[in-house]
Amino acid sequence: MVKLASRMETLPPYLFAALDERRRAVEARGVDVISLGIGDPDMPSPPVVVETVQREAARPGNHRYPRYDGLPAFRTAVARYYLERFGVHLDADREVLTVIGSKEGLAHLIWAYVEPGDVVLAPDPSYPVYSAHAALAGGEAYHLPLSAANGFLPDLDAIPEEVLRRAKLLFINYPNNPTGAVADRPFLERAVDLCRRYGILLVSDAAYVEMTLEGESAPSILEIPGAKDVALEFYSLSKPFNMTGYRLGAAVGNPAAVAALGRVKNNTDSGQWNAIQYAGAAALEHDPQDFFSRMNALYRQRRDKLCLGLRDLGWNVPLPRATFYVWAEAPGGDDRAFAEQLLDAGVVVVPGSGYGSCGQGYVRMCLTVGEQEIDRVLERLGALSPVLFAR
Ligand SMILES: *Cc1c(COP(=O)(O)O)cnc(C)c1O
Repeated sequence: MVKLASRMETLPPYLFAALDERRRAVEARGVDVISLGIGDPDMPSPPVVVETVQREAARPGNHRYPRYDGLPAFRTAVARYYLERFGVHLDADREVLTVIGSKEGLAHLIWAYVEPGDVVLAPDPSYPVYSAHAALAGGEAYHLPLSAANGFLPDLDAIPEEVLRRAKLLFINYPNNPTGAVADRPFLERAVDLCRRYGILLVSDAAYVEMTLEGESAPSILEIPGAKDVALEFYSLSKPFNMTGYRLGAAVGNPAAVAALGRVKNNTDSGQWNAIQYAGAAALEHDPQDFFSRMNALYRQRRDKLCLGLRDLGWNVPLPRATFYVWAEAPGGDDRAFAEQLLDAGVVVVPGSGYGSCGQGYVRMCLTVGEQEIDRVLERLGALSPVLFAR
């Protein structure tokens, strides 16, 4: 066998790939498994998205390579959406870049900035991509603990001076996966201020900015005055528009960061298919707020059903204000053992330690299954409840 690059030693198997494997093993025993695992919407994308892809797929002009910097129609639609939704002005040419899903953009951004010895400030728990690529690029992730006690907002004042001086990137992700927390404006202001003082690029992962369940409106980092000097935001169409399979998002904000990411991408991929970018533009232009409010109402119903049902069983789970994730302390305290017990009973939940060591003792459950399945989850956990949830 050819010896793998030593950097591969830093790269764990992707959390959900490992989880899928365990799930298949249980299914092979004949258990029909219900997954509250990966955050992948079960509902269809808006009809205008499907119609646009179909129409654009039939046009031979779209069968060729797309433009490197992204389709102007999509970038313009993103800029218009940012103006209407957040009051943020973006230059569609210099401050908006199409990405093949924000996962791709986040990963490649790290390669533009991080070299051996650099520090990347990443929340713990968090989406695994930030730390994985920081390590691959030879950098060092410095973890910012998120806990219920701090409202799942990192304590920026607790980062040592020496770490701040070596830091290149600060990742924030609100509304937050996996905790469901929403950041307030004062926190975002402190983050912008810190990054300005230390010359750090603030990377805002806004995958859930439209997914709030109590009628509140989550802010973009770019609403903070001066944020564009220090911040790049990743907007994703995946979760809010039920478009995870299409692979479409945008990097917006600081023009130097947009250009740097573009340079890595031009040398790596050749962009997203035009038909999909036209579909994304159509999604953003056809009353997106109406679609979001219908989806959020659906998730709110599911959340109430699952969380209140679990509370009735003796598991006191909190109700998230945002995202479609329930982040709850695992009864018994061992998240992996608890997730295994549930998997044996036919329910997939994600052990919190997969999101970092501060996720230990928690599990994440995703609201991307219908109410009937939630009923079956409650039945299955109900049958186990004398074992799992000592009252
Ligand atoms: C799902 C998710 C993403 C990835 O979204 P894509 O645009 O589909 O790549 C990025 N960040 C977080 C926090 C997510 O949960």
